[in-house]
Parts: sequence; C-alpha cells; structure tokens
Amino acid sequence: MSELILDVQNLEASYGPVRVLHGVHFTVRTGEIALLLGANGAGKTTTLRAISGSVSASGSVTLQGTSILGMSPSNVAKAGIAHVPQGRGTLTELTVEDNLLAGAINRKDRPAVAAEVREWYERFPVLGKRRTQLAGLLSGGEQQMLAIARAMMGKPALLMLDEPSLGLAPKIVGEIFSIFSEINKSTGTSMLVVEQNAEIALAIADCGFVLEVGRTVLEGPASDLQSNPEVQHAYLGGDIAR
Ligand code: ATP
Repeated sequence: MSELILDVQNLEASYGPVRVLHGVHFTVRTGEIALLLGANGAGKTTTLRAISGSVSASGSVTLQGTSILGMSPSNVAKAGIAHVPQGRGTLTELTVEDNLLAGAINRKDRPAVAAEVREWYERFPVLGKRRTQLAGLLSGGEQQMLAIARAMMGKPALLMLDEPSLGLAPKIVGEIFSIFSEINKSTGTSMLVVEQNAEIALAIADCGFVLEVGRTVLEGPASDLQSNPEVQHAYLGGDIAR
C-alpha cells in the first residue's frame, strides 16, 4: 500500500462564532485520487480552505509527514499543494499564457517552464490557439482546462479541485474528469476532489469520504462507495438495494 501524502485528523474550523467543521478526518495516499462528497453546506469547501491556509483551523494536517496547519496560503502552495477553488481561480484579466506563467511563479527552472507551457498547449490545443487572449474570455470548460494547467505548472505534490463541474455542460464534465484521470496517471500527481456529481467523480476516484454537517461519516474505496446503499440513495439518485 502506498504511503500517505495528506493526513487530516480532527479538523475543526469556524466562521466567526459559528463552528462549521467538527472533526473532519481523511487521508490521501500518494498517487491516488480521493473524493470528498457531501450535501450543500457539509463543509467540503471549508475543508479545502483550511488545508490551503485561507481559513484558520485546529486539528492536524500533514503533507508528506510535515505539519502545514497554520501556514499562510503562499507557504502551503510552496509546500506542494495547488488549490483550484470553486469558480476556477483563473486570473481573468491576464492572458492565457500569463496565467500559465503565473502558475510557475515559485519555480526557477525557466527553460523547463517554457517547455511545459508548450506541452500544455499540445494537451489543450484550444489554449495554444488563444494564448494571447484574456482568460476571462474563455468558455467555462476552457477556463477549467486553464485552471488545471496553471495549477500543474507549479508541479504540486497534491492538486485540490473544488467542484470542477460547477456550471459546465454534462458532456464537458465527462471530458474534464477524463482529463483529471489522465493527468493523475501520466504525472502521478495526487488529487483531492470535492464534487457534487458523485457518479462521474467516483468513476475516476480511488477512495472517497462523505462529510455530513462538518464531520466525516463514511469512508472507503470508491468501488465500495459506489455500491453503498446510503451513497446510492443520497448522491447517486437511486437505491441499488432494490
Ligand atoms: P457547497 O456544496 O454548497 O459548496 P460545502 O460542503 O462546500 O457546500 P461550505 O461551503 O464549506 O460547505 O460551508 C459549510 C458551512 O459554512 C455552511 O453552513 C456555510 O453556510 C458556512 N459558510 C461558508 N462560508 C462562509 C463564510 N465565508 N462565512 C460564514 N459562513 C460560511
């Protein structure tokens, strides 16, 4: 069994006086795709924010054995976590190319950065064609491609994606999840994905965790969750027990 890249234990977080995480726990193994499922308001986005340092939290968060809880977002990024927030997180006032270069801001290996920009244009030809255009002019699906490429330009150990399907047409969602799976396999980058579209996300995930009202209530391999009647009922729109 591969070792853990991310270990989250007893994570608690509040907005002002209101506690919204009451003890979230989960782990991501190196090279795997882990999925966080849960109803609206369960605390999935807050969990990613707490990991990336944009919401203060208590408990324990370790990346490759090093505690990162309490670090600033820029130090968490330097430690190896790229966070693609809901709404893509592209810099809409910058060109496509400048977005990719901004993703590599902490890197010193400039020739390799230039080569990787070209590789991303090969992988996503539409980004190459529109390299000089403002990112804000891209379609939702194209912006999601740019957000992934930009995050990967930082060579993260762990890529966190918050509801990447939000606002995308169903056909595009399938393509985007195939791209995640392909990037995971070709680069070995570990991924933590928050997604409401459980069916499509469980199909590419290795393991999953279900949050309810700020707590982890269910966990297991993705295949077990796919056939779990509770998950079926709550997130997959059916009850396979019948
Ligand atoms: P969704 O799927 O709807 O995005 P979620 O599982 O990601 O939901 P969070 O966005 O983490 O859930 O929200 C958890 C709780 O914290 C909710 O009750 C939400 O209303 C509250 N919350 C989120 N952001 C803030 C904020 N900036 N200030 C105050 N409360 C917030």
